[in-house]
Amino acid sequence: MRDLITNSFLEIFSQEPILAFAPGRINLIGEHTDYQEGFVFPAAVSQGIWVGIQKNESNSANVHSLDFREDFVFDVNSFSPKKGHWANYVMGMVAQFKQAGYPARGFNMVFGGNIPVGSGLSSSAALSVSIATGLSGLFGFKIPKKSMALYAQKSEQLFEGLNCGIMDPYASAFGKENHALLLDCRSNSHEEVPINLGKYCLLLVNTKVKHKLADSAYNKRRAACEESVRILSETFPGIKTLRDLKEAQLEQVKNILPEELFPKAKHVILEDTRVHQAGESLKKGDLISFGKLMKASHESLKNEYEVSCEELDFLASESWTKEYVLGSRMMGGGFGGCTINLLDENQLPDFKKFISERYEEKFGIQPDFIEVTLSEGAHLLD
Ligand code: ADP
Ligand code: MG
Repeated sequence: MRDLITNSFLEIFSQEPILAFAPGRINLIGEHTDYQEGFVFPAAVSQGIWVGIQKNESNSANVHSLDFREDFVFDVNSFSPKKGHWANYVMGMVAQFKQAGYPARGFNMVFGGNIPVGSGLSSSAALSVSIATGLSGLFGFKIPKKSMALYAQKSEQLFEGLNCGIMDPYASAFGKENHALLLDCRSNSHEEVPINLGKYCLLLVNTKVKHKLADSAYNKRRAACEESVRILSETFPGIKTLRDLKEAQLEQVKNILPEELFPKAKHVILEDTRVHQAGESLKKGDLISFGKLMKASHESLKNEYEVSCEELDFLASESWTKEYVLGSRMMGGGFGGCTINLLDENQLPDFKKFISERYEEKFGIQPDFIEVTLSEGAHLLD
């Protein structure tokens, strides 16, 4: 990729670029906990976005997307969002930098990557963070990683109109080889947990579906959590989000909340517990316990939080039938996207064949497989 970026850059702009990289991410466990200030457990992967960038003597940003084979030019002092366009991620970041007191001058940029878009690896966060890394490298801005993640989140919210959380850009910025990040979504700080999978590996299976329900259900679930907090705060003064409640209080919570709200609150409270348990298991190298937590997470997302779908449930339950699969669950917001699976590396061919045949037979779709390794976060390349 880096040669491709450099050569394209030379061809288009007749200059040597500096190079930056930012990865996509997975989430080991902890779904629908972030917006209740809970815990998540992401890790950066080796797939990502590469950016080549160099100054030009103007106020013009000349950007070329290799993957979309498209140019976009804007003035760094005056620009506005362009609905649904990839250039939003570039302009959004320039806007964030400017607002934070890091004004960019004109630049030339070429970028491209190998993250399948919309598959749950967060190509958009990788794009934002790679641009942030490239811009700060080019102009000598010394920006802390946490600020970079916050700017990326803000940029996507303002320029793409998406109410996204901090997890994706955070993981892309802070990722560490062979580690996952136990991230506290209240303090926006994390613990690095070393992950040793031995002969096991992580594999994503892409359902290749995205059900329409996803966006409206997301908003409804957020609203249900907020309503639960409102009701519960009469009995538990001082709680700000469901993160403030513990497993031991579930019985009480059940007695207070209306029947339709309780399962949603239960998911969030227990999922937070599972993230901590997963951290403990993985620190001990206890992959079997971690696998059980993955399964419990899936079942809770399916039955309590109700954000799974037929395709995800099918993939997870078929995977559970293989004794060499330690864990399988839906990853991400739900209603489509990928499952994440922990399985014996030597059985990859068997697993892929089995899942392909079963999924194709049931839904008439060939699933995609994405092998992932826990990798370094965003950085400049020399
Ligand atoms: P994801 O779940 O992968 O983050 P999103 O829908 O949030 O999917 O973001 C995908 C968008 O990010 C694309 O529509 C495009 O605008 C931008 N994007 C991601 N990867 C690339 C790329 N390699 N080149 C250009 N734009 C990209
Ligand atoms: Mg995204």
